[in-house]
Amino acid sequence: MHEVQFKIALAALLVVDAGVRLYYQRSYREFKRVVVRHERREKLLYYLVGLGIIPLLFYLFTSLIDGFSVPFTNEIRWLGAGIITTGNLLFVWSHKSLGKEWSPVLEIRKGHTLITEGPYRFIRHPMYAAIILIGIGVSVLSANWIVSLSYMLPVICMYLVRVSDEEKMMTEYFGNDYREYVKRTGKLVPKLSILMHKKRT
Ligand code: SAH
Repeated sequence: MHEVQFKIALAALLVVDAGVRLYYQRSYREFKRVVVRHERREKLLYYLVGLGIIPLLFYLFTSLIDGFSVPFTNEIRWLGAGIITTGNLLFVWSHKSLGKEWSPVLEIRKGHTLITEGPYRFIRHPMYAAIILIGIGVSVLSANWIVSLSYMLPVICMYLVRVSDEEKMMTEYFGNDYREYVKRTGKLVPKLSILMHKKRT
């Protein structure tokens, strides 16, 4: 199968993500911030993730890095499209559930509420889980290790640096509500107990 078909599929799947992000971030600046953490570091991480997308654009729009390919079969590569689609669905669901509480950097807005519904009922970081899932899908569908490394390394780096500070900030602001929430949810993967009990209080 010709490489261009994979490129078109990948571009189409990623345009969905860009559209979702643009749609949900449109009212971001309207809210007042009451807590901001590590703003410079967070922005830097955000830009690093942005930079990691450049090789992906080279892959999509040129054939300059096509040589850095991994010998995956076509079937496996199409499985990558399925993984991206799953990640996209989780990404939309997370954005829809988090609503106006979403922010690109670590912060608490005026009147911030703790979201525990939608995917947040099962895991605390569904959006990061979605971004990681999309990264795995991008790696498999592109079958290109330059694309994969440049996308995954900044994303994993952002996740590792950010998550503990995010949870610390949430615990400081929401206190026991967040501590209780932590007990019944996993970070990226649901706790078995919540899947087995219909409703826990
Ligand atoms: N880590 C989450 C959210 C990413 S957006 C995820 O992966 O889905 C980051 C912002 O979301 C943080 O600055 C924090 O203010 C907010 N946030 C994270 N979890 C939240 C929750 N359960 N309820 C409300 N806001 C939350």
